[in-house]
Amino acid sequence: MPMRKPVIAGNWKMYKLLGEAVDTALALKPLVANANHCEVVIAPVFTALKTVADRLEGSNIGVAAQNCSTETAEGAHTGEVMATMLRDVGAKYVIVGHSERRQIYSETDAMVAAKCQAALAANLSVILCVGETLEQRDQGTAEAVVGRQLSGGLTGLTASDLDRIIVAYEPVWAIGTGRTATPEQAQEMHAFIRRVFAERYSNPSADAMRILYGGSVKPDNIAGLMSQADIDGALVGGASLQAESFAKIVNYKNGE
Ligand code: PEP
Repeated sequence: MPMRKPVIAGNWKMYKLLGEAVDTALALKPLVANANHCEVVIAPVFTALKTVADRLEGSNIGVAAQNCSTETAEGAHTGEVMATMLRDVGAKYVIVGHSERRQIYSETDAMVAAKCQAALAANLSVILCVGETLEQRDQGTAEAVVGRQLSGGLTGLTASDLDRIIVAYEPVWAIGTGRTATPEQAQEMHAFIRRVFAERYSNPSADAMRILYGGSVKPDNIAGLMSQADIDGALVGGASLQAESFAKIVNYKNGE
């Protein structure tokens, strides 16, 4: 079995003015300085990316953008930000296909695929989000939905692209609701996702894929989630906004 280095990523969504973002990032830095067991990532808003990335230079915290354009060349696309522009200001990762973008901004699987391709072309790693709604889970279609989102989002990607893809399974009913999937529920879907990669690519590709869980991850439930065989980290929203609580999640191994 390959060693999969866990990833603990904080999605700050549309929170924090520049000064607050810098303060949180600087407060986090010493709290996670010894966290060699995982990749630590934070995703501030676009306007804070460069300053936060600059202030974290040389630290073990990577910076992610929360979205990128489907476009790969400069042009008349008012309001869009291209993946190469994110890389230019210090982002190393980009979150693609978050359920808030799918639901509120009508992002389709085709757009998600185009964003993944744009991000990879710009040398960014992608955190590709998938996840079913409560209605879909209740109807018994959760795996079908996640399978469809995966095959849609991965369109055009070859096995050689996969080392810069990280999947985040985020059941929509668990995001920002305080209702976490049980470790067993999450494990079941993560194992399914890994099978999708095995069938689409190969067993080694599937074994190497990092699959994060997201949905009301907190300091008191991270250890249970991380104890599951196919859970390789977390994408954290609300609990990533404070340096202390996010650091506790990053340092889940110490039981701190
Ligand atoms: C998220 O925004 O990706 C998320 C999982 O949010 P929360 O942790 O607040 O549920």
